Amino acid sequence: MKLSEILKTDNLSLSYEVFPPKTDSSFDSVQNAVFEIAKLKPSFMSVTYGAGGGTSKYTLDIAKNIKALHGVESLAHLTCVSSTKETVRAQIENIHNAGIENIMALRGDIPESMKNADRSRWDYNFAIDLVRDIKESGYDFCVGGACYPEIHPESFNRKTDIAYLKEKVDAGCDFLTTQMFFDNNILYNFLYKIREAGITVPVVPGIMPITNANQIKRAIQLSDSHIPQRFMALVDMFGSSPSAMLQCGIAYATDQIIDLYANGITNVHVYSMNNPFVALKIHNNLSEVVSNG
Ligand code: FAD
Repeated sequence: MKLSEILKTDNLSLSYEVFPPKTDSSFDSVQNAVFEIAKLKPSFMSVTYGAGGGTSKYTLDIAKNIKALHGVESLAHLTCVSSTKETVRAQIENIHNAGIENIMALRGDIPESMKNADRSRWDYNFAIDLVRDIKESGYDFCVGGACYPEIHPESFNRKTDIAYLKEKVDAGCDFLTTQMFFDNNILYNFLYKIREAGITVPVVPGIMPITNANQIKRAIQLSDSHIPQRFMALVDMFGSSPSAMLQCGIAYATDQIIDLYANGITNVHVYSMNNPFVALKIHNNLSEVVSNG
């Protein structure tokens, strides 16, 4: 089923992001963790592609198994910046042949080794080029794109970031998923701005439960996200106790999700980091909220 259909419903729901194993030997343990999350019957699960230095070899296997073995709709991520047209074309075909109907079309971060290269020679400069190729592939995919409530780190300013986002959506994105954020007001402000700019597709907010103090540094590095004082106070007070920080991180993410639901968002995407414990806790915290929403 296409995610554009799922995202049309008014039912409150959660979806989860997982990442594929980095080594062959960790395939089974990662797949088991992913399946534990799938048992929560989320609205869909996304599987990253080479994000944060990880590999892409198993993205498709994991995405295919989530759907085939657990009946949960999956979204296969695909990046393009360091790929050729031929490899991307082959991967699009593989995704179709695996029975997956949804692709998250991403540029990917520019590798250090390519930063000073002549970009005019690249097959792909931006995600919009991949969105176009997927739409022109002849397969009927539902296509997602990434968006950044606190603007993409490479962007000159918010106005140009939103203008390029509008072009990407117009090229064929059926929905958008946001980068993580820790202050919901930033998301509400972003939604107001993109709606004003004429972007009307569903936007799925991405929530990252920060469950240990080290994760904060990494989250800021990856996303440039603003960490509100309210959250920093929790880290200052409880960061040195892993069990207390775990509880605080889950509670903070739960609180963000409830506020999003209360403000009209119907599907929230949780960056579950292959952690079934965290996914289950958040799922349980919201059981009544979701069934009554
Ligand atoms: P783009 O949409 O191409 O935007 C990148 C930058 O270029 C932005 O600053 C944009 O404003 C600018 N831009 C766009 N078009 C133009 C233009 N025509 N001219 C000039 N500037 C332009 N990375 C992975 O490697 N694997 C993953 O699985 C993955 N999943 C992600 C999922 C989500 C929800 C998010 C938010 C990010 C994910 N990323 C992933 C990270 C992403 O690849 C990086 O943030 C990357 O730097 C940008 O990708 P993009 O698709 O947003 O790029």
